[in-house]
Amino acid sequence: MPAAFTLVAAAASDTGLVRQNNEDAAYSGRWLFAVADGLGGHAAGEVASAAAIESLRTHDAEAGPDALLEALGSAMTEVNREVARRAVEDPSRRGMGTTLTAMLWSGDRAALAHIGDSRAFRLRKGLLRQITEDHTIGKLVSDADFLAPVLSRYLDGRPDRSPDLGLRELREGDRYLLCSDGLSPVVSTERIREVLTSTPTPSEAVRQLVALAEEVGGPDNVTVVVVDVRKFDAGHQSTEPVALGSAAAETATR
Ligand code: CA
Repeated sequence: MPAAFTLVAAAASDTGLVRQNNEDAAYSGRWLFAVADGLGGHAAGEVASAAAIESLRTHDAEAGPDALLEALGSAMTEVNREVARRAVEDPSRRGMGTTLTAMLWSGDRAALAHIGDSRAFRLRKGLLRQITEDHTIGKLVSDADFLAPVLSRYLDGRPDRSPDLGLRELREGDRYLLCSDGLSPVVSTERIREVLTSTPTPSEAVRQLVALAEEVGGPDNVTVVVVDVRKFDAGHQSTEPVALGSAAAETATR
């Protein structure tokens, strides 16, 4: 089928101002975009998010609009198996896992897969909507009088860890944002919307979003991918696929 759109994307992953390591990872490719936020002690979080992104990026291929859901769904299953495989390599990785929010597009639509508390947003006609649901539950924190959000679902290699999967219709002018929780909810949705509506290019948007997270103290690793849906442009030179954060170490593309 003839290409309907050209997608233009940019990504950034930053350790932030407080953490020593970057346990986030990101991928921005031709057909596929993703953000992962690893968890686990002794650097296992970095291993988990890197494993997820490295495994997922092998599925950066044109699936065809009718096969998108199946392609992304089976990719997520493989990613979960890879996390399991890496976890058993080293006892210190026991219990490690990662969030994963991924978008695979083809033709006039995109499939979205999501597990954990990273987020995807869509900006359409000035309105910014979160299009993923956080997989968290409130948990009572000792000596605090509130319920802290705790991850209820993420990829940790167990076979029952199925992500939310859905299809989105792409429209010219849409802007998608995938991000780790170092951006949202650390930065308010309104401030994120201001940046997304005022920046002409994805690369300028990701630069300003990371700066916003640092303005409020950069308490966590911050990772963002911004994807613009533009009218098909046969002359568009797509940028080289890039893996960032913990996934950059092995691919050396950062
Ligand atoms: Ca995080």
